[in-house]
Amino acid sequence: MDDIQGSEKKILDYWEKEKVYRFNPKKKGKVYSIDTPPPTVSGDMHVGHAFSYSQQDFIARFWRMYGHNVFYPFGTDDNGLPTERLVEKLNNVKSRDMPRAKFIELCQWTLRKVTPDFIQQWKNLGISADYEMFYSTIDKNSRKISQKSFIDLYKKGLIYKKDFPTIWCVECQTAIAQAELEDREEHSRFLTIKFTADGKDLLISTTRPELIPACVAIFVNPKDERYKWTKGKNAKSPLYGFEVPIIWDESADMKKGTGAMMVCSYGDKYDVEAIARHKLNPKIIFNHDGTLKSGEYKGMKIKDVRKKIIEELKAGNFIVKEEPITHMVNVHDKCGTEIEFLPTEQWFIKILDKKKEWISLGKKIKWHPDYMRKRYENWVNGLEWDWTISRNRYFGIPIPVWTCKSCGEVILPDERELPIDPTAIKVTCPQCKGDTEAETKVLDTWATSPLTPQIASSLVRNKIKIPYSLRPQAHDIIRTWAFYTIVKSLYHEKSIPWSDIMISGFVTMNGEKMAKSKGNVINPNEIIEKYGADALRFWAAGSKLGENMDYREEDVLVGKKFITKLKNASNFVFMNLKDYNGKKPKKLDNGDIEFLGKLNEVIKNSTEYLLNYEYSKARTEIETFFWKDFCDNYLESVKKIVYQGNESDKQSVKYTLYRSLLTILKLIAPIMPFITEEVYLQHFKGTEKEIFC
Ligand SMILES: [Zn+2]
Ligand SMILES: [Zn+2]
Repeated sequence: MDDIQGSEKKILDYWEKEKVYRFNPKKKGKVYSIDTPPPTVSGDMHVGHAFSYSQQDFIARFWRMYGHNVFYPFGTDDNGLPTERLVEKLNNVKSRDMPRAKFIELCQWTLRKVTPDFIQQWKNLGISADYEMFYSTIDKNSRKISQKSFIDLYKKGLIYKKDFPTIWCVECQTAIAQAELEDREEHSRFLTIKFTADGKDLLISTTRPELIPACVAIFVNPKDERYKWTKGKNAKSPLYGFEVPIIWDESADMKKGTGAMMVCSYGDKYDVEAIARHKLNPKIIFNHDGTLKSGEYKGMKIKDVRKKIIEELKAGNFIVKEEPITHMVNVHDKCGTEIEFLPTEQWFIKILDKKKEWISLGKKIKWHPDYMRKRYENWVNGLEWDWTISRNRYFGIPIPVWTCKSCGEVILPDERELPIDPTAIKVTCPQCKGDTEAETKVLDTWATSPLTPQIASSLVRNKIKIPYSLRPQAHDIIRTWAFYTIVKSLYHEKSIPWSDIMISGFVTMNGEKMAKSKGNVINPNEIIEKYGADALRFWAAGSKLGENMDYREEDVLVGKKFITKLKNASNFVFMNLKDYNGKKPKKLDNGDIEFLGKLNEVIKNSTEYLLNYEYSKARTEIETFFWKDFCDNYLESVKKIVYQGNESDKQSVKYTLYRSLLTILKLIAPIMPFITEEVYLQHFKGTEKEIFC
């Protein structure tokens, strides 16, 4: 049994000791800069991480070996809702039951405890980042850069504050952005209920009867012949008996339900716009936590209120028709709760008025694979809201603002004071000398992470210029991380953030998304323990960039076999190279010339593939050459010569063995850095002298 973990650990120690991956701005070679994704701190790396970070590391290692000075920093994303939820889970607490300062302290304490082990998992996978070039999105430097960004955008008129019905999560009790919505199929009841107008029944279809008390108008389409009689009339609500105007509005969909619709405050975005357009007075019936504000069911949650109202409607004979319905609802991606619309004061970054610009910037970036640009464009085209950056939460970067209580003046700190917590400082209004109120909301973590190019560059005195060479990331965050980085880069730098973006896919299990609830989650640390990081990386190189890939243990085993074969072949080669000095003989045998020619083809092809992010093709090319041409054919055919041939033939073969094995190691090194480094150190370092990869 070989000790994979032991040998990989030795290589890790060697890399660390020799500072092999330290970035040195003075080193020769063109800089190749990578805007590394900062993983969200959690207990364990998941296999999707292992998959996509391996793929980006193939590219990083390739460019390094291609002679570039690779800037490959490492950061962690560790504030905002995901971190709060982790801290709540690990410590079994609820943030809103604790004093704010105490909860923030607990967050920091928890992060200090879990982060080192978390990062170690990236090291164990062989990710060749410079871990000394480190940032966290909540550290002092990031807070400063993020608050500076806020102030800059505010001064440019690109940030505004508005009291307005926005997307709200009643579970997390915060405003959220459109990009945080997910669709979920939901089974519900589609009811047709009776309003009355002018003594006649006016039938209305809805899935949300609990919003009847929040109804402020009935909309019908002016072209709808069925409702000509309703002009200028009011409608009377069932159960409550209050009256609302019937409004003729062309946006009412004649084909949906009965064609007459309730406009409530607020069922959806349509309601938000309809109420604003007609200047109707909203009636807000739910609290921020999703409980009813008043009445018989005061304090009850939305879904329970719905049940009660349906019972009452039935008892009062107000339901004409009831059908089961399966429809898509919007849920919050962090907690799976159906979202609501509640009016609160939030901060927004303007993005809606620049859709054309976002699309044209997207076209200036090279997307790999190219079709991912379509996803970006679809997202931009579907934007309905400006970007909500404030959160009614605790552990995040404070919004650096005070507002005057008397004249409403917005007061910003001086940039030299950053980072600041406005709640810790008393400020008087420079306009009217009145009292001010510190902003208590914090920035969403997505308002900071799009600044990773600036944050990472600040670690080397801004020597890395925007655009970076590459942004690697997974496809699920095109609409957030990629899009927001493009937005901030335009607003701050008047430039695209990177020239290239590579997008990786997901890992699936029998074609299905992995999820704890399905019990099909694979822990990459266990695979590394069993087969080694190289074998896992070899598996990750098996799919085309951007495509999802099924996890299959057999595929990891193929990598493991490759490692064993590489070791055995190397031992065989060096058994026969004991008296070889590394020099090229005067004359090479024709067979050897031909074999080295073939190897040159492999170098050319796999380089070309890697330049195009086609690491899976590069892997196949090298794999086939190694197994078939090198092991099965060449090694077999030269055995006789190394044992019994004449001195000149022996020298030719020895040279060819040495060169070809070294080249194979170099070619596969971006994918399997551990075993290749091990063989190199053991057999080649003495003659080659240079650092390998
Ligand atoms: Zn939520
Ligand atoms: Zn004032």
